[in-house]
Amino acid sequence: MRYSSRREAILEVLRNTKEHPDADTVYEKVREKIPNISLGTVYRNLRELGESGELNTLETEDGSTHFDADTSRHAHFVCKGCGKIGDLFGYGDVADALEHAGYKVECVKTVVYGLCPECARKQKDCDPSLS
Ligand SMILES: [Zn+2]
Ligand SMILES: [Zn+2]
Repeated sequence: MRYSSRREAILEVLRNTKEHPDADTVYEKVREKIPNISLGTVYRNLRELGESGELNTLETEDGSTHFDADTSRHAHFVCKGCGKIGDLFGYGDVADALEHAGYKVECVKTVVYGLCPECARKQKDCDPSLS
């Protein structure tokens, strides 16, 4: 097995999900394809792919790092209820405006915290004072 096929398998896992998994979750999924891959290999490849810009990395408030194969400029929404991470597009405009003004933008890492629509609805159902 070529060295690059591991990296390909890791990228493949991330391209097939929009859930922004952390390294442990990526490891579980990659193991379905390459059963003998080590957690260290997955961590190292994820770090290298992040450094080379082939993956978007996202650090959340709880200190965990999540990975995203979508490297276009976008912001993220982290739900404090269920932990789901969603994509928010259209926020790259800020970077475009800065570049227009002569700034060199390297990356945009906007993370918005709150409740997703389902969790917001649940909270409302539980708390009659909000309805
Ligand atoms: Zn939620
Ligand atoms: Zn994303």
